[in-house]
Amino acid sequence: MDLNQLIEFDREHIWHPYTSMTDPLPVFPVEKAEGCSIHLKDGRVLVDGMSSWWAAVHGYNHPVLNKAIEKQMGQMSHIMFGGLTHQPAVELAEKLVAITPPAFQKVFYCDSGSVAVEVAMKMAMQYWIARQKGDKSKFATIRSGYHGDTWNAMSVCDPDTGMHHIFNKALPIQYFAPQPRCQYGSKDVADDLTHMEELLKKHHQELAAIILEPIVQGAGGMWFYSADYLKGMRQLCARYQVLLIADEIATGFGRTGQLFACEHAGIEPDIMCLGKAITGGYMSFAATLTTTEIAETISKGEPGVFMHGPTFMGNPLACAVANASIDLLLSTGWQAKVKHIEKELWIGLEKCQALPNVADVRCLGAIGVVELNKAVDMAVVQKHFVDLGVWVRPFGKNVYLMPPFIITDAEIAKLCDAVWQVINKEGEK
Ligand SMILES: *Cc1c(COP(=O)(O)O)cnc(C)c1O
Repeated sequence: MDLNQLIEFDREHIWHPYTSMTDPLPVFPVEKAEGCSIHLKDGRVLVDGMSSWWAAVHGYNHPVLNKAIEKQMGQMSHIMFGGLTHQPAVELAEKLVAITPPAFQKVFYCDSGSVAVEVAMKMAMQYWIARQKGDKSKFATIRSGYHGDTWNAMSVCDPDTGMHHIFNKALPIQYFAPQPRCQYGSKDVADDLTHMEELLKKHHQELAAIILEPIVQGAGGMWFYSADYLKGMRQLCARYQVLLIADEIATGFGRTGQLFACEHAGIEPDIMCLGKAITGGYMSFAATLTTTEIAETISKGEPGVFMHGPTFMGNPLACAVANASIDLLLSTGWQAKVKHIEKELWIGLEKCQALPNVADVRCLGAIGVVELNKAVDMAVVQKHFVDLGVWVRPFGKNVYLMPPFIITDAEIAKLCDAVWQVINKEGEK
């Protein structure tokens, strides 16, 4: 199949994320990816600024990760998890229990981030059912969040930028507090917390849990909020007998400068979702962790078991590569690297602040965001980035970078320069 045939067939038959089948945005065929480079089929090589949506923290085609998968493949690629267990799954649980906050002792493996969120919500509900408080079956969250595309995950995504207007007839109704406006670093969180407290006062008897992305709201707005707000949220949940679910699917494994974003606030949620970078971006895999108390309560209540069990639960290839990825992360000074990336992103993106169409520039950990005054024209902007030799995919008003942790200073500079050029050009329109 030549390049044009490939593009043609793709356009005719394959859905891409959030696209039209009749008027899809262009896609760029990839030949291979290596380190921090994406090699397009037409010969161009792009610096990766996206880590394949928060996932590829070690870059692509990493020899250590490749070897872990190859080795496991020689043993078994998959085996059912009902009635059977295996070394990679046990080893991974051991690591996750060791590196997450101490409260987390029980691990449930899932096949994707959205499923990990569904599982977390089911856990919260089953916990209250076991405590004879089955009325606690709804969820509260903050606006501008993103928790995945499956049914209940969707119900706690931002009601405006999420898909609520399309699916509202069938979506469970949840409760939304305003997005916290207290930026990361701010101590002034009382007003923001008041909104959630009022909501809890009114509705805590029907609430199973509050779910939120700790510190960094990702796909819903690329917004960094105050650690004190998260601390306050933890206290409110305790006071009103509502569980706290931390969705660390995007923030986990070092991205924000802490291994898990909850650590910015020094809090322990009751349930935690991990995904994306858990396998170093090699394959779809996720985990939902909880405390001994919650797991035991669920197990003592009706029906005495937790009601979930996907076909590919605990997939050995995914566990093996996750084990290798976590070892690699912990043994290669991730924290210093992420700090360094933050500094370089600031250096590179700061000058965007002077552009008239820029509303805000912010960086935290290995995340750099330039928020514009209005949404970009994706088709135009995407091509411009590729022409400049970088892979950056904005959404809405946000042009953002979240590169693999192995990125070099020169590559960061190239990404930032491209961001400046593209935004500058956008502003001329
Ligand atoms: C990506 C994401 C999800 C969904 O994960 P999938 O693997 O795409 O299902 C859920 N929550 C957050 C915070 C995410 O960033």
